[in-house]
Amino acid sequence: KGKRLALLRDAETRTLDGVPIALHANAESAADIAQARACGAAGIGLYRTEFLFLQRREVPDEDEQFLCYRDLVLGMGGLPVTIRTLDLGADKADSSGLVLDDEENPALGVRGVRLSLRHPQLMRTQLRAILRASAYGPVRVLVPMVSAAEEMASVRHLLRDCARDLRSAGHEIAENVELGAMIEVPAAAIALQGMIRSLDFVAIGTNDLVQYTLAVDRNNDQLANLYDPLHPAVLKLLAQTIACARRAGKRVTLCGEMAGDRRYTALLLALGLTDFSMHPAVLLEIREAIIGLDCAAARAQAKALLRAPTRERIGRVLARMGTTP
Ligand code: PEP
Ligand code: MG
Repeated sequence: KGKRLALLRDAETRTLDGVPIALHANAESAADIAQARACGAAGIGLYRTEFLFLQRREVPDEDEQFLCYRDLVLGMGGLPVTIRTLDLGADKADSSGLVLDDEENPALGVRGVRLSLRHPQLMRTQLRAILRASAYGPVRVLVPMVSAAEEMASVRHLLRDCARDLRSAGHEIAENVELGAMIEVPAAAIALQGMIRSLDFVAIGTNDLVQYTLAVDRNNDQLANLYDPLHPAVLKLLAQTIACARRAGKRVTLCGEMAGDRRYTALLLALGLTDFSMHPAVLLEIREAIIGLDCAAARAQAKALLRAPTRERIGRVLARMGTTP
């Protein structure tokens, strides 16, 4: 299998019927970046910045963050890189002192963009570092845990402010750095229509979207059987999000674990997805799956998938499409 997949390193990612699909990598270390390059990733679709802040007492300063993001951009050799702003919360082990540790419900607490906006100086520092890295290659900014349009308006405002300050201080930064939202809270998926015009792109985070839609803790082993990406409610939100972004002409990526699991590849093509981001270790496997799938045939099953009332019936449609869920 290793040899078979190795042959796909330089292959284009197209479905049987010729539809180009972009396979990006999720990354958070130099090793991930090297692996992403080695398997011919189209770019970094999700760069998690939490590791810079975890397991340390002091928050990294602007220069330290800048050097890290610059190395990432240079490491990708001109391919686009999507850097996610800090997604810290009491759900992650942390010693930075930023996180409230007395929350009863950390997953529903001060997490992601909520935490960043409570510490505008922290967010400014990160945005400045990202903007400075944009002088070295194409960079996009992605915001986690968005639940309302106002949050994105605040981030947009901060981003513009930081860009203006950097330019007037003589820093060279890219003309336009795109700003996108993670769609991982059901509210963001449901209300996307009202927010899409103010976004440059969206990235669907199914790890959290499944957790919040089904009210099932993604880390609770007792509930593993209920944590199901094939729940009809999840499929509806995915379909709706992808369709909304496509209608608005905005790029939509899916960067949760689902993107790297070939049991779901045909399903995601059926729902209209053309941009995937996954751990680089599984990228070639997904490329192989896509090369063997007919996109038009998959899309023809979208209605049947969305009409199916139970997980079991969805499984039957997927079986007809040639995947065993
Ligand atoms: C997600 O929620 O799907 C996601 C990609 O983000 P994380 O796993 O970092 O929460
Ligand atoms: Mg998430």
